[in-house]
Amino acid sequence: MSAAGHALALRGLTKRYGDFTAVDDVSLEVAQGEFLTLLGPSGSGKTTILMAVAGFVAPSAGSILLDGREITPLPPEKRNFGMVFQGYALFPHMTVAENVAFPLRVRGLSRADRDTKVRAALDLVQLGTFADRLPKQLSGGQQQRVALARALVFDPNLLLLDEPLSALDKKLRAELQEELKALHRRVGRTFINVTHDQEEALSLSDRIAILNHGKLIQSGAPGTLYEAPRTRFVADFLGKSNFLEGTVQGADADGFVLAAGPDRLRVRLPAGSAVPAEGSRRLLSLRPEKISLLSDGEAADNTVDGRILAWSYLGAGFALRVATPSLGEIRAVLPAWQAAIAPAEGLPVRLGWSADAAVPVEDDAP
Ligand code: ADP
Ligand code: MG
Repeated sequence: MSAAGHALALRGLTKRYGDFTAVDDVSLEVAQGEFLTLLGPSGSGKTTILMAVAGFVAPSAGSILLDGREITPLPPEKRNFGMVFQGYALFPHMTVAENVAFPLRVRGLSRADRDTKVRAALDLVQLGTFADRLPKQLSGGQQQRVALARALVFDPNLLLLDEPLSALDKKLRAELQEELKALHRRVGRTFINVTHDQEEALSLSDRIAILNHGKLIQSGAPGTLYEAPRTRFVADFLGKSNFLEGTVQGADADGFVLAAGPDRLRVRLPAGSAVPAEGSRRLLSLRPEKISLLSDGEAADNTVDGRILAWSYLGAGFALRVATPSLGEIRAVLPAWQAAIAPAEGLPVRLGWSADAAVPVEDDAP
């Protein structure tokens, strides 16, 4: 298989159905060889974007470019994109090898060329010894690997994946995620994956684009989105978060103090961040795992007293819901080895977090 991925760009991509806007002015660049994930809740427009890229949905406005050349008017077969879609099953009456050979047959390749490419594609997904089986003789995960081989066998310009793992059980899904990641590294092509599963997005992607109501809310490397979510929606959808609201006081280049009721929360901003206006209302996102349980006399930039409302054991740690008088309910996740106490309902606790743990986010809650 020849390497070299291709770059894709969406410019103002919009799709309307009547007066409903399914995809709303989405602009996005996907670099050569990148693994990009479109992540968003059900109905956020992910499949519509993928279908527009594949050429099955005609955009209402905007354009799609491959390596800088406009492909918007091209029919699907001229785009040469590989696809693995959720309900896009294997042909049940064909063997594994015949399934994988199908796109090559459509393209008129000779028998000998087909055989070579089919063997290489099956080796790629580690199913070389399954060539003569029928799909029903394979597990769900193996069937999806055959679908991947079928999508890659004709040297596609892009590989488009629409929730390919969502029908599999949790353990199998985790296995196939690893495999998909390894496959991406091996073939060096541009992959665009769609999922509503935030863990899958975090673990697989070079970059994630977060969608809501057809709009692109934020895109970036998984770590960037997780650590510096731009909005409440992003912080809430990618991981879990506490949201603290208050009024800005004493803002300077390093940060500010957020007055939330009687509490004064110190916020340190990363260098170069915009400093919020004195007296303005701001919302902070605080990840549960950035909160620690303070022992007697232990100091932190921010502390708040509360009582444990509920707790659960997670194996690797504890999840706590803590009722605080002024900040409402706060969720904290503590590594088990760090928990200074045995959690119990009603137990008074003091929570602490550092000034750079909470980040200001735009409030885009509906
Ligand atoms: P996702 O894949 O993120 O779940 P979709 O792209 O499938 O979302 O759908 C986005 C929105 O567009 C949904 O509200 C869906 O009902 C609507 N939609 C999708 N296809 C059509 C269609 N052919 N006609 C009318 N509405 C559609
Ligand atoms: Mg979908």
